Amino acid sequence: MQTDSKIKKVLVIGLDCADPHLMFTRYYDQLPNIKKLTERGLFGPMESSMPPITVPAWSCMAASKDPGQFGVYGFRNRADWSYDKLTIATSLAIKEPRIWDILSSAGKKSFTLGVPGTFPPKPIRGWSIGCFLTPSIDSNYTYPPELKDDIAKNFGEYHIDAKGFRTDKKDWLLKEIYTMTEQRFDMAAHYMQKCDWDFFWMVDMSVDRIHHAFWQFADPNHHRYVKGNPYENAIVDLYKYIDGKIGELLNLVDLDETAIWLVSDHGAKCMKGGVCFNDWLIREGYLTLTTQPTQPTRFADVQIDWSKTRAWGEGGYYGRCFFNVQGREPNGQVSQKDYDKFADELTERLTSMVDHEGKPMGTKVYRPNKIYRKVNGTPPDLIVLFGNLDWRSVGTVGNPTHFTFENDTGPDDANHNFHGIYVCAAPGMSKTGRQEITLYDFAPTVLTQMGLPVPSDMIGKNILD
Ligand SMILES: [Zn+2]
Repeated sequence: MQTDSKIKKVLVIGLDCADPHLMFTRYYDQLPNIKKLTERGLFGPMESSMPPITVPAWSCMAASKDPGQFGVYGFRNRADWSYDKLTIATSLAIKEPRIWDILSSAGKKSFTLGVPGTFPPKPIRGWSIGCFLTPSIDSNYTYPPELKDDIAKNFGEYHIDAKGFRTDKKDWLLKEIYTMTEQRFDMAAHYMQKCDWDFFWMVDMSVDRIHHAFWQFADPNHHRYVKGNPYENAIVDLYKYIDGKIGELLNLVDLDETAIWLVSDHGAKCMKGGVCFNDWLIREGYLTLTTQPTQPTRFADVQIDWSKTRAWGEGGYYGRCFFNVQGREPNGQVSQKDYDKFADELTERLTSMVDHEGKPMGTKVYRPNKIYRKVNGTPPDLIVLFGNLDWRSVGTVGNPTHFTFENDTGPDDANHNFHGIYVCAAPGMSKTGRQEITLYDFAPTVLTQMGLPVPSDMIGKNILD
């Protein structure tokens, strides 16, 4: 632990989905402020949580705890063992203390701005502005509540997210993304100067939105890429714009006494298409419907014969597989004693799956009780990464084939990748250069920088040790 730390404050700039290959290799020379920051400290890829999904990844970073400990396995989670109750994981689902809670107890003031997992806002010593899961600006999305009026007075409508980012209206979306990003950084600059904070953490969602919406235009490996298309530079242009905004924020702090972090929750990769998980389970004999739909239909809208169903799947950037277990689900079919055998069988079938051209997909399958320290809530029985995240999971049934190249929730060309980014630049750092860390290392390192002990149950370690 640093005993004579010069660090008085910590500023964290979060960029959802910022990717290490793009930031530190492909676009590195076009990002002067970020490059300068990397030269002052440690930087590199930061391994995400499993799964590498916004919810729960930011909370894993903030608490140094895993998704199983939270009982939060994605945006939507089963509320119980019934077949149809799914709930969105808000801040209320996170019971473990996150860094701002620990700092509050230690008498330090935090400001969190748009950090995923902070709606509804909970009381902290300091200020909190709700994340992209804020349902509308009519909700109580700030702590303290009157902060909302101050935002309205200074910035008008708070741009919670780029609305409807899975759209074909690309020019409209670009404007929407820049409007949000400009405001998010302006709000950060405003409150960084106005409030007396020890720890300031802002997150901007624009990089994630532009990856999902514009990847096909920038990546020659994408099947829809056309050289010389008008959006070829959309992604790099946003990285450059954000680099400028980061430069402006850094001008507002005293770098001789402020530790700066740049972080993302996961990276991005080209998405080949989607695997129609439930259609595949039907073909393989694990799932039975009472009537087969003739066009793609939401899983919630079809009748399932649970007496002839052993497993079903959920859509998303990764697939979740649920077993229909005797004594657990209402009409369970897999016996408790066959559970492990059944899990092994399905894992074998999934990992040997071939793609639309008959080539091995490299699908990875994980069991929550093997990868998490605890398994709280209602976990999936299998976590399925189709093609190791080259493919997403499609939940609808009645698709013409088991592979689709259109997304069931609107155009989307990128999937998440296993590593996000980090830069840690602080006064008095003895170590510099590239070093890979995990997002679980973030909170222990920041606590150490702030002169506080690291709770023994945190997963990660101080990277400066
Ligand atoms: Zn994310």
